[in-house]
Amino acid sequence: MIEFNNISKTFDLGGGFFSKEKKIIHALRDVSLTIKKGMTMGIVGESGSGKSTLARIFMGLYKPDTGYFKFSDFNSHNISKEEWKTFRKQAAMVFQDPYSSLNPRMKVLDILQEPFLIHKKDFSISKEERLIKITKVLDMTGLEKGSLKKYPHEFSGGQRQRIGIARALVLKPRVLVLDEPVSALDVSIQAQILNLLKELKKELDLTYIFIAHDLGVIEYMSDRIAVMYLGSILEESAVKNIFSKPRHHYTKTLLNSMPDVQKKGKDFQVVPGEIPSPLNLPKGCPFEPRCAGAKENCGLLFPVETAGKNGYYKCHYPLN
Ligand code: ADP
Ligand code: MG
Repeated sequence: MIEFNNISKTFDLGGGFFSKEKKIIHALRDVSLTIKKGMTMGIVGESGSGKSTLARIFMGLYKPDTGYFKFSDFNSHNISKEEWKTFRKQAAMVFQDPYSSLNPRMKVLDILQEPFLIHKKDFSISKEERLIKITKVLDMTGLEKGSLKKYPHEFSGGQRQRIGIARALVLKPRVLVLDEPVSALDVSIQAQILNLLKELKKELDLTYIFIAHDLGVIEYMSDRIAVMYLGSILEESAVKNIFSKPRHHYTKTLLNSMPDVQKKGKDFQVVPGEIPSPLNLPKGCPFEPRCAGAKENCGLLFPVETAGKNGYYKCHYPLN
């Protein structure tokens, strides 16, 4: 089980040259989220909503300003260096862009060996044993053995993402953080990669944190969904609740912007209005300036977390 507790994260861009005004970006604001073992938590939201920042905090790449997370026995708040190392092997990340996340000068064999070498103290295994493990993930991710001698540029986008997934799996993690893993791929290839990820999850008993801005992809992959907006989770619930009975106006607006078969021919609605600057956040509900259901106090008070039927939402005037 993974538990994020009241995580906040800001980025200080410093003062401008001509102004003394401090520029602070609020990337995450009081984010709490529980992810049960073996499930896929989908995280959706427009660009800049804080999805990658949350992923990076989990991977130990950023330190939160406040808050902490727990993962089985680990608590990010009081974890020793040694414990971090153990933790790091149990979680791995797959990135959006298989072009830039793979070193173009390394052959696939070296790309897949690298994690063992980074953690060589804990993986004092022979070259032959390493090769057996690598061949196994290669096979699991649908790549041929001959791939090992090739460079990333010799593969198609989809194949390259398979290499990225293989690299994430070589040390047998328990959790995969997938940050927009199919967003850079052609639609025809996306389904293949999503199905591969589903199979791997079952086969290897993995837990997924699955980030995407595409609700269709999120619906296909997730058990539960967290809807993020300007650094906050505005709603969190089981997939079917999010899709059939959204409580937050933002969730509903996102759903309306989803082009689907029934709406073919009709214009699909994009979320109206502009996202406020993360440098200058509204005092109340962050969605208030764009919300069709907003009333007077929405812009004044940040809505508290309210328990719904199967999750929670933060809205003063929720949808029924
Ligand atoms: P998402 O993944 O949902 O698109 P991010 O987590 O990447 O959102 O970003 C959230 C906010 O934090 C954005 O306003 C972004 O510009 C800002 N941000 C993210 N990383 C950094 C950084 N390293 N330095 C400064 N600002 C950052
Ligand atoms: Mg991102």
